[in-house]
Amino acid sequence: MKITLLGTGTSQGIPVPLCSCRVCRSGDRRDRRLRTSAVVETDGLSLLIDTSIDFREQMLRSNVQRIDAVLLTHHHFDHLFGLDDIRAFNQATGKAIDIYTSPQCEPEVLSRFGYAFKEGNLKYGLPELRMNIVKEAFEITSTLTSADGAAEGGMLRGQALQVLPVEVGHGRLNIYGFRIKNFAYLTDCKTISEASYRLLENLEVVVIDCLRYTEHPTHANLAETLAHIDRIKPKRAVLIHLSHEVMHAELEARLKTITSANVEVGYDQMQIITD
Ligand SMILES: [Zn+2]
Ligand SMILES: [Zn+2]
Ligand SMILES: [Zn+2]
Repeated sequence: MKITLLGTGTSQGIPVPLCSCRVCRSGDRRDRRLRTSAVVETDGLSLLIDTSIDFREQMLRSNVQRIDAVLLTHHHFDHLFGLDDIRAFNQATGKAIDIYTSPQCEPEVLSRFGYAFKEGNLKYGLPELRMNIVKEAFEITSTLTSADGAAEGGMLRGQALQVLPVEVGHGRLNIYGFRIKNFAYLTDCKTISEASYRLLENLEVVVIDCLRYTEHPTHANLAETLAHIDRIKPKRAVLIHLSHEVMHAELEARLKTITSANVEVGYDQMQIITD
């Protein structure tokens, strides 16, 4: 499995317009962060997690060639508002794209992008999406055949990949993280219930929210993130959704002194490979 972090910044992105703080002025490219999103490639499928407001730039910058399905964590603008630009991917295949999300998120998406969920949209140049409300583990089935150019050794028509939604607390909202095999993606996550911890056992990699050092009502700060990692005990953890309080090199150095776990600071276009 290959995970590419398309963006690792908090909702404002880094640098923040008009801000002259040292992180926003940093010359380290790892301190330049588009909004948080990722693409997961496995079994011949290419799954996008969130259509960030920087979607278009992220697709171009990371040269994403295909989107077989979208896993949507929640409806906040930074994770959703690039949705319309997905039509380029509809046009490339002539097919609708499935979106998977929670019952709470679905009406929020439809209230903003309802027009994109109509059959036959493609011929009008609009995005054409299918909404799937999921509450437990679900399967994504490839519609590609080897003749369509499915990745070598990848999944052919009829084979299915299992995806598990994992509910996490994001302030007053409960939103979705997703587990795919031994990888989990937990953005915008302040709290994790005992039931959700149980869904996160035996992970090789967790990608997890770590907004900043100081406390925040809806995101985990560094201490809270490390406590989650301590409970989950993945082989490797990667921090995302970082604000301009966090300078990459500084947090990297600090992690070495405060935790013995294998925790890395995420950065845009970072690639993570798992077995
Ligand atoms: Zn966010
Ligand atoms: Zn700043
Ligand atoms: Zn959010």
